[in-house]
Amino acid sequence: MSVHLFAATTSQGKLRDFRTAALTHSVRIDPLPGLDGIPVPEEDGDTFAQNATLKAVYYSRHAPGQMVLADDSGLEVDALSGAPGVRSARFAADAGLIDSPDANDNTDVWNNMVLLQRMAGIPAPQRTARYRCVLVVARDGQPLHTAEGSVEGLILEAPRGTGGFGYDPLFFLPELDSTMAEIDLETKHSLSHRGRAFAALLRQMSL
Ligand code: IMP
Repeated sequence: MSVHLFAATTSQGKLRDFRTAALTHSVRIDPLPGLDGIPVPEEDGDTFAQNATLKAVYYSRHAPGQMVLADDSGLEVDALSGAPGVRSARFAADAGLIDSPDANDNTDVWNNMVLLQRMAGIPAPQRTARYRCVLVVARDGQPLHTAEGSVEGLILEAPRGTGGFGYDPLFFLPELDSTMAEIDLETKHSLSHRGRAFAALLRQMSL
């Protein structure tokens, strides 16, 4: 059975990841039509699950009868007590370096700079971190499915690679001897927090 999901995200990185996911499953994923014209909801939840749910519920009300997929994800660094966590997209904005994440094309660069600053002097064995992702599918304002995934890694002292997005150039996968920005999209999907959450979501939906 082929299912059509509408992704409620303007993140090109997330959309690329979802498109890769759709290639290997009987799912069609398109951006939610008219997303640019819909006011952005405030992501004020304390957890990825709360934020993913509020986004899926909110955007599904703008697409009656459709299954709307929302992603909330981010980086948890152990040496920073789990920061930036749900504030991952806004790390540099919270530090007062940029106005808002959406207002600046260089947001990822600024976020990575803040991360490196906060981690200055922390030795390699203590640079452990993970990406987490929660996916929620909602229809007509009702959450239907929730799934999550994570991947463990280490934060490097300097960026490596040009692929991926966000913190990927700093997120090192020891078992691949590569950063998330140095691997191809299929490999990223097979082991990433988003890929794992997506696989769990499809299992839940019996797809
Ligand atoms: P959200 O849009 O509020 O879920 O923010 C997610 C933020 O977490 C992104 O802006 C990135 O900074 C970071 N992030 C989430 N997933 C990834 C990923 O796969 N690679 C790199 N950064 C990610």
